[in-house]
Amino acid sequence: MPLQLRSDLTALTGYHSPQIAADVRLNTNESPYPPPPGFFEALQRALHEMPLHRYPDRHTVRLREAIAHHEGVPPASVFPANGSNEIIQTLLLAFGGPGRTACVFTPSYTMHTHIAQTVLTPVVEVKRRADFLVGGDLVAATVAELAPSIMFFCHPNNPTGLAEDEPAVRAALDLDDMLVVVDEAYGEFLGTSWAQEAVRRENLAVCRTFSKAWGIPALRLGYLLGSPAWIGLLDQVHLPYHLNAFSQVAGMLSFDFVDEMRARVATLTSERDRLYDALAARSDLTVWPSLSNFLLFRPVCDAETLWRGLLEHGILVRNFASRPGIENCLRVTVGTPAENSCFLSALAAVLSAVKPATAKLGFGVSSPDSLGSSAVCDEQL
Ligand code: PMP
Repeated sequence: MPLQLRSDLTALTGYHSPQIAADVRLNTNESPYPPPPGFFEALQRALHEMPLHRYPDRHTVRLREAIAHHEGVPPASVFPANGSNEIIQTLLLAFGGPGRTACVFTPSYTMHTHIAQTVLTPVVEVKRRADFLVGGDLVAATVAELAPSIMFFCHPNNPTGLAEDEPAVRAALDLDDMLVVVDEAYGEFLGTSWAQEAVRRENLAVCRTFSKAWGIPALRLGYLLGSPAWIGLLDQVHLPYHLNAFSQVAGMLSFDFVDEMRARVATLTSERDRLYDALAARSDLTVWPSLSNFLLFRPVCDAETLWRGLLEHGILVRNFASRPGIENCLRVTVGTPAENSCFLSALAAVLSAVKPATAKLGFGVSSPDSLGSSAVCDEQL
């Protein structure tokens, strides 16, 4: 008999950002710029000296120190891992599990839900307000009704682009026995962070990554900031030597190029604003403001058709046409100025060729308040 997947996993849909070949890839919120040549030279030198026949530092001591120095926190408040996805998984393994519910405010980063489910943590998804914020009242009502053990925020939120509102996070933090996870994967674009507070409190975990502003997603590196009171408990659940030596060194060397990272962020932020202005000037779509390196927008026409049309022009963006809460939306990652200009030209060309969506689809009114609610379709395109 062929192997059967664990029965509770068969209904899960997995991570749906298809890796399709395209000239201009603006679908996964990566930086279009790698780190500078000096970083690669230093990494090569470090590789030559690396004792590859030995296991890496299990406690990632030097990397923790480097991160701590960069963040201005004690090393005992830092836990590095293979990207923020592994951090989320580690947190859920340690503090979730059967009988402990995780709460996610949707639309948001779907892996919070997905990872929780794979590690047998029951998840409740609570719909954000029409402005995509959560608000203190919704947090209070959710806690009163569901008493979750873990609550996820995303600051700024992917895919909507806005910062989490402070009253919502504060309302969650006031509950001492609930772990509050603030995912700051795009934090460098935002400028505000919950990191310092994570060190002082005992119920806040902040996740950061080298995959976005730092430009090294290929190396799978992220870190968690939290209280020394519980960070050590994570050693119970992560695999021994989970973080390879090369990624550890890459993380440490990244901090020698902070100015270059900030310059990339400045370029991308100004390009984001240029893209936003261009999209906002169009009457055939709605775009949401963003404090990140991507923009969510909803065309008046059928988003699926627009997505395919852009792909025919060599532009790959993220398709959320059937994602509950952001139906008929697409998300574009900010690329280089040339890539962004290509995207804008292709967008204009496709939109002038396609018909507006029929009234039956219900997307004729392109307002952030006109969010639909259910239609769950196949996102895997
Ligand atoms: N959190 C958010 C909000 C993200 O958008 C992503 C990547 N798309 C991640 C975490 C995961 O990043 P990584 O595992 O590469 O650090």
